[in-house]
Amino acid sequence: MSRVIDEIIVHCLATHNGWMAGSSVDAKVAEVRRWHIEERGWRDIGYAVVIDRDGSIGWGRNIDDDDDYFDDVGAHTRGRNSRSVGVALVGGATSAATDAFLDNFTPAQDKALRQVIAQIKNYARKELPVNGHNQYANKACPGFHAPSWYAQEVPRSIVGSNTLRSAATGAAATAGAIGTTVTQLEGDSQRLVIILGFIALLAFAFIFRERIKMWARGIR
Ligand SMILES: [Zn+2]
Repeated sequence: MSRVIDEIIVHCLATHNGWMAGSSVDAKVAEVRRWHIEERGWRDIGYAVVIDRDGSIGWGRNIDDDDDYFDDVGAHTRGRNSRSVGVALVGGATSAATDAFLDNFTPAQDKALRQVIAQIKNYARKELPVNGHNQYANKACPGFHAPSWYAQEVPRSIVGSNTLRSAATGAAATAGAIGTTVTQLEGDSQRLVIILGFIALLAFAFIFRERIKMWARGIR
């Protein structure tokens, strides 16, 4: 290994579903290599790895021709190339930075990307953060929030969240108890119970605020 690697940066090719369908991942790598060399004037494809829709892995940048794809400084993220490895997913044409991984990519790509990440960490012999292009540029690429995706892959559904479901149940029970108590009281006592009830509801929101934020970002 001939350079320091500090992070993995994920990208997408921003191709529409069906782009070069039926072609091998190597043919797709060759096409992206052509874009980068002919249209951008680079020496080689910018990414170390390209992951196809079916999860097959295409090896990219290999300037020194030693078949060590992680030791070449890539061309993919302005200001971050020298210490990162760039990996690109096929697809993502209409993606947004706030999408979930599976909104734009396949379960096979999820699995393959995790395998490639493990391989790069193994190569670097250390833990590496997984980041996305959209953290360093005002772009959608790769079409999801990479650190959140890597931390935990998940459907963005409140129904799928046990924690949020129990929080909602607790809040509803508290609200119900307040309602019942209030009808049995008068004047100052009634106001006191209403105030205490609001405090209890705020406490629920406070306790689960991190969970709510995570859910909003697409994590369970
Ligand atoms: Zn990118």
